[in-house]
Amino acid sequence: MDSAAYVCLGSNLGDRELNLLRAVAEIGRIPGSRITALSGFYDTEPVGPVPQDNFLNAVLRLETCLEPHHLLAELQRIETDVFRRVRTIAQGPRTMDLDILFYDDMILEDADLTIPHPRLHERRFVLVPLAEIAPDHIHPTLHVTVAELLGNLPPGGGVTKV
Ligand code: ADP
Ligand code: MG
Repeated sequence: MDSAAYVCLGSNLGDRELNLLRAVAEIGRIPGSRITALSGFYDTEPVGPVPQDNFLNAVLRLETCLEPHHLLAELQRIETDVFRRVRTIAQGPRTMDLDILFYDDMILEDADLTIPHPRLHERRFVLVPLAEIAPDHIHPTLHVTVAELLGNLPPGGGVTKV
């Protein structure tokens, strides 16, 4: 049986909307995989130490027969080959960032891949679009739903649906 992975998309360089649409199309072409839900697109203020332009973020659900490392390799191929992403400043501006948020109920802590994504529960720009398509999904180590994680965040803004 196929697995369900949730993937976060983010772009803050170039034509952000076109980048997200292109990424959705490319992810839809990953072998053995199909997109079964897509959130709206959100304009989001950057989080972290690097001053930079706002991101456009979205989250999708992918039903896939690929195991997580194979899926990560496909996502990184899209970042690199399709978007010519150059990894310069850590957490800096990027044409496309593709992160795996959840993969079924899997818990994984490998050197190159952590699932669930270690910072998803503290990021409004992830939880708002994720809650649109998977409010009842239970975080496998925190044991609360996505909607509850979002409700537990300190009050704040910076995430606006476009
Ligand atoms: P950022 O943390 O800003 O997304 P990168 O996209 O450059 O930074 O990712 C850095 C590394 O994070 C990748 O090379 C990848 O191996 C690793 N990584 C660990 N867990 C995940 C995950 N759940 N999804 C995507 N990348 C991950
Ligand atoms: Mg990333």
